Amino acid sequence: MRIDTHVQSNHSDGRSSVRQIFSLAKRVNLDVIALTDHDTNSGWQQAQYYSKINSIGFIPGSEISTSYQGKIFHLLAYLYDENDSVLQNLYSKSKKLRFLRFMQMFEKVEKDFDIRIKDLFPQDYSGDKTLKELKDLQLPLGRPHLADAIIKRGYCKNRDECFSTILHPCEKYYVPYIPTDINEVVKIVVNAGGGPVLAHAFSQKRGKTIDEKTLLSLKKLGLLGVEINHREHNVTDRQKAYDLSKKLGLLQFGASDYHGSGKPNHLGENLTAYETILELEKHTFRKVEWNGHKSNS
Ligand code: AMP
Ligand code: ZN
Ligand code: FE
Repeated sequence: MRIDTHVQSNHSDGRSSVRQIFSLAKRVNLDVIALTDHDTNSGWQQAQYYSKINSIGFIPGSEISTSYQGKIFHLLAYLYDENDSVLQNLYSKSKKLRFLRFMQMFEKVEKDFDIRIKDLFPQDYSGDKTLKELKDLQLPLGRPHLADAIIKRGYCKNRDECFSTILHPCEKYYVPYIPTDINEVVKIVVNAGGGPVLAHAFSQKRGKTIDEKTLLSLKKLGLLGVEINHREHNVTDRQKAYDLSKKLGLLQFGASDYHGSGKPNHLGENLTAYETILELEKHTFRKVEWNGHKSNS
């Protein structure tokens, strides 16, 4: 069974639509995928539709930005009740904060580069768009969107180049952003009936990593698992993640973190075991929409 548990669409900073993602999932012989857009579940309805059409299993999820000791950690949240008001408030708060921070960065970049708001709209939108329309879209905006506006005018060739130049945290254009504390977010996800799993938290390349003591306290709050096989984890990172997951009894995930053409990651390049998903489902409010793949393990 081939299951990819970490995929972003253009409902956040991925460049592919949900329709394109499920067609691709079929082409690369995946059985099940999770849609995990940043700080939103706005793609779930489309995913329900396109997963059925393509006979691909669907795991509803999100990747929530959190902070811990001044650094940002991403928390995957699976199979929660999307009507939970506390979680939806967290998303609203995050979108507002992201929009304000985005505009601060946009205005700084705009002083030195000829960039336009209309270049930022996902491919489904066209025409001469305004700031208000951008706000109304309720997109969880981040540096990747700003990168796309910069790329559009030819100042960088791809997002990676933008992140290592104009949008790098050491540059004058960068504005920091502090999301909700990780302990708080784990509690919110658990109360919403979701399964929280740490994304790429052992990546030394990303800076600070999660230590054993912190992991144990998060597990006590309801953390269910950690990503191990992820392209931003090197061999040492994977070994550490694996050893700690074994020691603390956490589920082991592997995933692509696909962003369409926004990152070089290939859909299905890392996978999560079927048994892990069955275990995850035991703890969650919603169930996986298997679309015929449940007994195929
Ligand atoms: P932000 O949270 O707005 O500062 O931007 C961080 C987001 O940008 C992360 O969630 C990643 O998905 C994405 N990202 C980080 N580094 C890169 C990169 N080198 N190329 C493309 N996307 C990136
Ligand atoms: Zn992303
Ligand atoms: Fe992430």
